[in-house]
Amino acid sequence: MEEVAPPANSRHIIMLPFMAQGHLIPFLELAIQILHHNPIFTISIVNSPLNINYLRSAISNRPSPPTQIHLISLPFHSSDHGLPPNSENTDGLAFNQIIKLFYASTALQSPFCGFISDIIAKEGTVPLCIISDSFMSWANEVARSFGTVNYTFTTCGAYGTAAYASVWLNLPHRNLADGGNHDEFSVPGFPESCRFSVMQLHPYLRAADGEDEWSRFFQHQISLSLHSDGWLCNTVEDIEAFGLEVLRNYIKLPVWCIGPLLPSKMLKGNTGSDTGLVGSRSGKRPGVEPEKCIEWLDSHPPRSVLYISFGSQNTISETQMMELARGLEESKTPFIWVIRPPIGFDPKGEFRTEWLPLGFEDRIGKQGLVVHKWAPQLEILCHRSTGAFLSHCGWNSVLESLSQGVPLIGWPLAAEQGYNVKMLVEEMGVCVVLTSGVHSRIEKEDVRRVIEVVLNRTEDGKGEVMRRKASELGERIRASVEIEKGCSYKAMKDFVSTILSRFQ
Ligand code: UDP
Repeated sequence: MEEVAPPANSRHIIMLPFMAQGHLIPFLELAIQILHHNPIFTISIVNSPLNINYLRSAISNRPSPPTQIHLISLPFHSSDHGLPPNSENTDGLAFNQIIKLFYASTALQSPFCGFISDIIAKEGTVPLCIISDSFMSWANEVARSFGTVNYTFTTCGAYGTAAYASVWLNLPHRNLADGGNHDEFSVPGFPESCRFSVMQLHPYLRAADGEDEWSRFFQHQISLSLHSDGWLCNTVEDIEAFGLEVLRNYIKLPVWCIGPLLPSKMLKGNTGSDTGLVGSRSGKRPGVEPEKCIEWLDSHPPRSVLYISFGSQNTISETQMMELARGLEESKTPFIWVIRPPIGFDPKGEFRTEWLPLGFEDRIGKQGLVVHKWAPQLEILCHRSTGAFLSHCGWNSVLESLSQGVPLIGWPLAAEQGYNVKMLVEEMGVCVVLTSGVHSRIEKEDVRRVIEVVLNRTEDGKGEVMRRKASELGERIRASVEIEKGCSYKAMKDFVSTILSRFQ
């Protein structure tokens, strides 16, 4: 390769998120936060055309979006990779297609190299650094080949990231004598006393043997990420001390905790203070209008409403949906439930009444608001009437909920969500588990039981303790971004000066 100048005066940061809403939006927030700290950078966020359009719509929603952010499309054709046409992110993809998207994402490598070469030709220096998603760690080799540095950004929490990386790299559950479903195992990097359960693993991980397509992809990408120059983590040092200790010991790289990457409006003032319209982070989507949700929430007492959502891409089975509906109805708890077609149905298809008990929506009347496909989650979590969140515990949802002091009911479905739930229960004491996965059987009584606990209707007062702990965590999360004083503010400042020191 031709000799190129070191980044003597480059202020150009390149960002490469994975192709999923839960990754694209935190990358955009990261770019905005870096520019808040120091506006001298130019930041190019690079991805496939549809994801770039999606980011364009998300950024146009912001109050004065920074002009230093450039959104760059690289050619990508999902049908070349056995995916349906225009399938450029996990949204609406059936589970067995998601692994194809992971492999397809590596096809961006060649146009990505072309893009870096173009920058060098235009600017006369290599970019200052490449910040890549932990699932896109091939960017580490690209950075090395061009003579620049690479940072890995994990959009997950520290505990979940450490467990995810170590379980994939070591497959510790494979050593269990009978591979039985109820066996517990320890995870390299975690203390021996911290036992993990096979039930916390997604079926593809339970079955992984190091040779299957999931293991091959994740083991390769995680191994590459361990050669990056450091990690950025969307978490808060003050709430994840244990997870961070494990992560730092395990990856043996600097870790900057620069989270929570949330709209600043959510991090101001007290929780439950009715922030009003926070503004969608993801641009306009089909679903309920935020104003309608707020109006509905306004008509309920403080901390009385249960919000139910399984994130941007996951769903549950038809039988689980039926039983969840029965439990909700019998609990007489006010709720907002974001419903998507159950497993096995077209994720982009229309809602069918037969997925819910006969006459459900008529009977519940004012008790519940059933929302099809997409709800204004931030507005709901910021509202004083929201008392608990039944969630798959994707990391963005966890941070959004805790930042507002809202305790959770956990129902992990994929990725590192099972580890997040373990931490929320065992380390933080802010979550009660309903079930996990899409194959489990739930009964309406289980649903009622966890609602009673989290909304503090049981005699043991467990819900009150969860609420208090969630509220304390919310305070720490909001304090973390305080200018000059907060731990996340300081971490971001340190990261920015680290990258700038490359040319000072
Ligand atoms: N989200 C939303 N409305 C919905 C569902 C999801 O606004 O109806 C947003 C939510 O606020 C969060 C993101 O989508 O920011 C989901 O990210 P998370 O990490 O929780 O889960 P994932 O979708 O990655 O599984």
